[in-house]
Amino acid sequence: VEGKDNILQQSQERMAAMANKKAVDMLDKNDLIVICGAGGFIAGALTRYFHQQGFARIRAIDKKPLPQWYQVVPGVESLCMDLSEKDNAVQACRGAREVYNLAADMGGMGFIERFRVECLRSVLINTHLTEAAYRAGVERYFFSSSACAYNVQLQKDPNVRALKESDAYPAMAERGYGWEKLFSEMVCQEYWHERGLKTAIARFHNVYGPFGTWDGGREKAPAAICRKVIEAKDTGRMDIEIWGDGSQTRSFMYIDDCVLGIDMITHCDKLTAVPINLGSCELISINTLVDLVEQIAGVKLQRRYNLNAPRGVAGRNSDNTFIKQMLSWEPTTPFKTGLTKTYQWIEQQYYDRKAGRRTVS
Ligand code: NAD
Repeated sequence: VEGKDNILQQSQERMAAMANKKAVDMLDKNDLIVICGAGGFIAGALTRYFHQQGFARIRAIDKKPLPQWYQVVPGVESLCMDLSEKDNAVQACRGAREVYNLAADMGGMGFIERFRVECLRSVLINTHLTEAAYRAGVERYFFSSSACAYNVQLQKDPNVRALKESDAYPAMAERGYGWEKLFSEMVCQEYWHERGLKTAIARFHNVYGPFGTWDGGREKAPAAICRKVIEAKDTGRMDIEIWGDGSQTRSFMYIDDCVLGIDMITHCDKLTAVPINLGSCELISINTLVDLVEQIAGVKLQRRYNLNAPRGVAGRNSDNTFIKQMLSWEPTTPFKTGLTKTYQWIEQQYYDRKAGRRTVS
């Protein structure tokens, strides 16, 4: 009965997603869509998503040189520009009907706890882009915020109460990265209230999936654990290092849900300048994450807990009451399903790299 209920609920959510307005319902196929940070994980997936829907004019921008982009979509104008420079932001927005800002210097806990200055400097990107978008007469502007904007005092327990949108204030965001997001949210809100630029603001909770960072220091927990399990299997050293004691909890959203959510949030007028959670509400501990990856890989590893490694807040989950109310939808991909696809992709990347072929990380 429970299985039937789940299937019913999922098909209802799919119907609701179809009923929500999206870019295809509101734009002409020749309107210019600008996607910032497109050499990275989420904006790369968003570029592919819009391209697959037949949008003929997409401008994808990233500061990384083109050979380092995770995905280069054929037929898309792909530009290498540093958007923290004002002139580049102006050039980026010229002629655009919609602008999606997903450009930021970011990474997992290992990165954002160590490189706070880099994280804070992303404020320049959003500051220049909102002004340039406003001056260029852009109709809709999307900003990718983060669950790190929430008050850290509410995230001290692994059995955390899920975070709802009002929990960002009184503010005590994650130092560096979280404060940058909170300030940039406010910039987006005021550009709507004072200047009429329609802004959309989604607070992402950990996103994972193929074509994401999986090595090099910026990767997040699901990708890092997949890589470590693949390495352990390949080298025969059947152990794994886990950051913290493994009791930390998070929720993880599959990339396909993320791009669909971005599209629906951007085109929902009731959500103009209103920050909203975009995340899964399936709470997973790091130990459970390791269990799941071991199951997918068909191995059992000896666990070594590194209590000195960065571990972030004790627990964090997304309260999806508001998004369900607004869109009659929430991210639905079961974690095990998305993780299996991610594991398979990272495994392929791992062996491609070993064979000297080009890879994402
Ligand atoms: P990512 O690192 O894969 O992509 C970000 C891209 O922005 C990178 O390719 C980077 O080169 C580019 N960039 C950085 N500075 C730039 C600049 N000055 N000019 C042009 N491009 C620049 O990260 P992602 O996971 O795709 O994240 C996208 C957005 O979503 C970011 O704003 C991030 O803060 C936010 N977010 C992501 C997650 C997640 O779990 N991945 C969670 C919360 C929020």
